[in-house]
Amino acid sequence: MSRTKLTTHFSLEELLFSQEAARHCLDNIPGGSVQINLARLAETLERIRAAVGNRTVTVTSGYRSPALNQRIGGSRTSAHMDGRAADIVVRGMTALQVARAIQAAGIVLDQLIFEGSWVHVGIARVGERARGDVLTAKFGPAGVKYERGIVAA
Ligand SMILES: [Zn+2]
Repeated sequence: MSRTKLTTHFSLEELLFSQEAARHCLDNIPGGSVQINLARLAETLERIRAAVGNRTVTVTSGYRSPALNQRIGGSRTSAHMDGRAADIVVRGMTALQVARAIQAAGIVLDQLIFEGSWVHVGIARVGERARGDVLTAKFGPAGVKYERGIVAA
């Protein structure tokens, strides 16, 4: 399969791939403005990769078309639909360690969310300043709640 490299270690294909989209034959191909964001996102992922000691950063969910986002119950304003967010895991590290490493490296994101078994990283819109939100998602019977900071379970 041909790959479109966005940066040294990240390709467009891995930021578009979704098991859920494939399973349900959902189109997950974004428009031009989203592709610009995905390229910016890949640059941020390179910085994160360096922050975790050049370990392999795996994107478990990158771009989500509105149909895909709805299907998986994503937030209606999800930055994933804009190509500005990725859920990541790093081989050999817990999500908690990854979230802390990103913070320790001083990488300011629009949103850094410790989600328990993965980390959500979101970048600001073009021309906007990153909010620098650092949150922990707590999943309960009533849905997801967010606490400030990186809070270990
Ligand atoms: Zn996410």
